[in-house]
Amino acid sequence: MNACFALTEAGGITLLDCGATALVAMRRWGVDPDRIGTIAISHLHGDHFGGLVFLLREATLFRRPRRDLILAGPPSLQLRLEAAMEAFFPGGWAAQRQFDLRFVILQPGETTHLPGLSIRPVKAFHTRGTEALALRLDLAGRSIGYTGDSEWVDGLLEIGRDADLLIAEAWMPGTATPRHMALGALQQRLSLMRPKRVLLTHLGTALLADRAAIPEPVAEDGLELSL
Ligand SMILES: [Zn+2]
Repeated sequence: MNACFALTEAGGITLLDCGATALVAMRRWGVDPDRIGTIAISHLHGDHFGGLVFLLREATLFRRPRRDLILAGPPSLQLRLEAAMEAFFPGGWAAQRQFDLRFVILQPGETTHLPGLSIRPVKAFHTRGTEALALRLDLAGRSIGYTGDSEWVDGLLEIGRDADLLIAEAWMPGTATPRHMALGALQQRLSLMRPKRVLLTHLGTALLADRAAIPEPVAEDGLELSL
């Protein structure tokens, strides 16, 4: 499945990225989309934000009551989501909703405080037009760092530092991978960041073929962790 992490606590669910398959995955693993209060998006690639189209479409179409929704992400998130919605479901964006939808722009280096949650992004380095961010979230007394998709940039030190959980991309073996994270480049910096736990995600084919040799835990579809 595409990138989508459901951070579940008593007050509800925060999603970290919402890739194209997110709604399918939530149905399969029993995550109730109506309990989601905030969705934080790392960058504007379909495997990280495309699922918003289907999530919003379903919530609007069936007109069921659900909690209001905050979408937090890069500056062009709303523009790109409207375009994607219009491409997949013409007229879908204008359909009447039974809930409030609010967009919040995340700015690198600035902490955004939302109900029960704060988000501090740093600028990542990924591909053109994706406005990539790495995110540090604090919620329910826990800190979670997420690299999104990015080659190594020193700002990522801040994302992972002493985090209860660092979710890190590991796309390729080795240390040099333009625009994506190389596992070796990440491993070299883990001792500087000292996260309490690490979870690797977004593995490319070379790493997937040799995953038994990777010492760090690797995310799998449906995996549950308690922090
Ligand atoms: Zn990407």
